[in-house]
Amino acid sequence: MQIEIVNPGFHIGNIHSALFDFDGTISVIRQGWQDVMVPMMVEELLRTPNHESEEELRSYVREYVDLLTGKDTIYQMIRLAEEVRARGGEPSNPLDYKREYHARLWKRIESRVMGLKSGKINPRDMVIEGAIDFLAELHRRGVVMYLASGTDHDYVVDEARALGIDVFFGDRIFGALDNYWERSKATVIKHILRSRNLGGESLVTFGDGFVEIENCKQVGGLAVGVASDEVKRCGINAWKRERLIRAGADLIIPDYTDPEPLLEMLFPN
Ligand SMILES: [Mg+2]
Repeated sequence: MQIEIVNPGFHIGNIHSALFDFDGTISVIRQGWQDVMVPMMVEELLRTPNHESEEELRSYVREYVDLLTGKDTIYQMIRLAEEVRARGGEPSNPLDYKREYHARLWKRIESRVMGLKSGKINPRDMVIEGAIDFLAELHRRGVVMYLASGTDHDYVVDEARALGIDVFFGDRIFGALDNYWERSKATVIKHILRSRNLGGESLVTFGDGFVEIENCKQVGGLAVGVASDEVKRCGINAWKRERLIRAGADLIIPDYTDPEPLLEMLFPN
């Protein structure tokens, strides 16, 4: 892996906890979800009385979907309802939008989940390269690890188990709940720091989305942007890289291959 130091003044304390986003940061099971969500939303908006051209809608939708990536999926659907209303349409309940989205996405990813469970697919082929060994190494070093995702909780638990990485997280897996207002990545971070009575400099966060990077920087943690290419599973995705830098990432990595230099940075002693 090539480590890019975006913020040369970054500060590392004694790292005690590590927070990982799931989709795109570790797992590629849901790779391509944007190609399901964006067309579904464009379809919906094209049905409103006062809509823009399909092309304009596509880039507009892609932009707000991306900015909300990392938050619970429901927030993207709430935004869709607002956009439908703004164009003179009568929106559905955001929860119904979410169900419809998930039904469409599931068609695309079901064979991946089933393949993992049956042993037909090797978990190493469904994660960003080097991820499993890297998690194992942090675990070996005694870092307390948390998995936080905007994907519904039961799916995150199920998919983490299918990948065999649930063992590193124990009961510290936090997916989206129906009462979404009660939990977010920000509240998970607060919980981590409060429950262990630690400062932000003891936390490192790995994520490929805006939200987890921002939340981590708000408490003074070290934010590692994972600008992953989810199709190749290694190498940099330039578009993600640019977004992660804008969100405030201290370091950028493309994947977890050859992790020694990164481990030396994280654990200087
Ligand atoms: Mg992600």
